Amino acid sequence: MGTSPRVVVIGAGICGVAVAYHLAVVHGVSGVTIVDPRAPLTLTSDKSTECYRNWWPSAAMVTFMNRSLDLLEGLAVRAGFTPSRRGYLYVTSDPVRLEELRETAMRASRFGAGPLRVHPGDAPHDPSAGDPPPGADLFVDGDALRAAFSFLAPDLVGGVHVRRAGWLPARRYGTWMFEEVLATGGRFVRDEVVEVRAPDRIRGVVLAGGHTLPADVVVAAPGPMLGRVGSLVGVDLPVHTEPHCKVAFRDRLGVIPRWAPMCISVDGRRLAWSDEERAGLAELGRDDLLGELPGGCHFRPEGGADSPWILGLWEYGAAPVEPTFPAPVDPLYPEVVLRGLASFVPGLAAYLDRLPEPFVDGGYYTAAPDNLPLVGPTGPEGFVVAGAVSGYGIMASAAVGELVALHVLGGRLPDYAAAFLPDRFDDPAYVASLDDLGDTGQI
Ligand SMILES: Cc1cc2nc3c(=O)[nH]c(=O)nc-3n(C[C@H](O)[C@H](O)[C@H](O)COP(=O)(O)OP(=O)(O)OC[C@H]3O[C@@H](n4cnc5c(N)ncnc54)[C@H](O)[C@@H]3O)c2cc1C
Repeated sequence: MGTSPRVVVIGAGICGVAVAYHLAVVHGVSGVTIVDPRAPLTLTSDKSTECYRNWWPSAAMVTFMNRSLDLLEGLAVRAGFTPSRRGYLYVTSDPVRLEELRETAMRASRFGAGPLRVHPGDAPHDPSAGDPPPGADLFVDGDALRAAFSFLAPDLVGGVHVRRAGWLPARRYGTWMFEEVLATGGRFVRDEVVEVRAPDRIRGVVLAGGHTLPADVVVAAPGPMLGRVGSLVGVDLPVHTEPHCKVAFRDRLGVIPRWAPMCISVDGRRLAWSDEERAGLAELGRDDLLGELPGGCHFRPEGGADSPWILGLWEYGAAPVEPTFPAPVDPLYPEVVLRGLASFVPGLAAYLDRLPEPFVDGGYYTAAPDNLPLVGPTGPEGFVVAGAVSGYGIMASAAVGELVALHVLGGRLPDYAAAFLPDRFDDPAYVASLDDLGDTGQI
């Protein structure tokens, strides 16, 4: 095939664009063609919270994400944006969960996520200071936590503040890469791939508009349609899709300081509905909201120092479904999220009597059963997958793009490559080991 195969990338989401960038711009592959019936980055990749972290429960994911963030920091300089380094703050009101957070923190630190400082004890921690240290700050009592984050609830007993974490302008980053691809001779074809020609190996793709594009390599980065595109080459990819939403609202009372990190409550909780509200929810058939809801309710400030915006997320009812667009939104989502947030940021309860006007959107997490990405060759020769990036596709995209380019061009693969090969699910022992799956890092 030589070093310049004819490459078609299915999908102009952040993964497809990053793959095209690494092939066309970094490695100089000519004529890389991205095909998508939608405008670039408009299906899932513009719905995200745009956050990143190097905090993961496995060595492969920590190494992979550290690599992705190294690449992203370099791209940010060239594209002219500065990622925030506010961090992720995981908090709990349960001493048992605090112990779990401590164990997770020690494990992530061992895997290469950086040193762990403990408070009270180690040098004081100023979360609002620029240029944060690497690693994480573990708060082993509530007073130390509130000394740093005074807006948090008095019943919290501790938490961990991950410092190589924050957020970035995802659409700007993706658009910049897309334009670089076009500037180096790449092409964008606005159409849908309906057939992949692979009688013996990849020969090309057929588009809904009737044209055929010849290809030696097809990279499948179709986001929530990964299962469908896999079936075009007879490959049964083990992926599911879950709807996930986010709500934006104005914090007009300034409850959340603008320097706040992304804050995540790891505690499951029952919401404090009044008797009247409980009766109303039961009447609506919403008993699901009356019991204990899962952990993972989170928020972050959005915009600069003068912006009043907060983004809130909580997947209290996510279950796998076939994707339809636009993604379904629970009409009660804004209120449920605000109630969840108010349970660990009491100042936000001021909004419960009269909810601020909410703006809700959402998309899908496309995930494999182990919540690890699917990146690498499978099926006919020349077919390569780049997806199943769940709730971390923005932060992972740079390393996904690099890894796909190495698979396509035959470069030396990093150690984490094996953990992400789609064919890992052909190994019954691996599949059986998933029964013991613990923390997968999903929020
Ligand atoms: C509410 C929410 C919050 C999130 N927050 C974060 C976060 O904070 N940080 C983070 O890193 N990630 C986050 N994510 C996840 C992240 O947005 C996704 O992992 C990422 O956008 C997936 O990118 P993708 O390129 O794989 O898919 P997509 O962006 O969905 O792009 C796939 C593209 O493929 C195209 N396509 C599909 N089928 C075909 C076909 N047959 N022919 C041609 N084109 C096709 C589609 O039209 C689409 O444009 C969040 C996601 C959601 C929903």
